[in-house]
Amino acid sequence: MAKPNKIYSVLFNKCPQCGEGDFFITKSAYNLRNFDKMNRRCPSCGADFVPEPGFYQGALYISYAFYVAFMVIYFLIFVNFFKQYLDYFLVSIIPILVVLTPLFYRMARRTWLALFIKPAASEERV
Ligand SMILES: [Zn+2]
Repeated sequence: MAKPNKIYSVLFNKCPQCGEGDFFITKSAYNLRNFDKMNRRCPSCGADFVPEPGFYQGALYISYAFYVAFMVIYFLIFVNFFKQYLDYFLVSIIPILVVLTPLFYRMARRTWLALFIKPAASEERV
């Protein structure tokens, strides 16, 4: 594959260092039994996905940012294009956020790790 890229690894469940190994063990965020199970290390390059205990507590701030960004965008779409249906914004936002929770959970963890691991192409190989 092409050189590792942080955006790609966040969106497609890949290791931020090599861009090849999977981060979560399942591809789908909607596998109810295993959607939150991570590999301890990258199966491809061996990068440590849990650098320290409690590392992913910080991911909650990323997750919060995703929710807020989504709600703002969703609200702006309603206000600009569906103003006469604004009541449906309130009715629909809760179920939509519930459905998006596993997706945001996984993206937040990948984003958080990607903030601390450099793609291998930008590192000096010894
Ligand atoms: Zn890797």
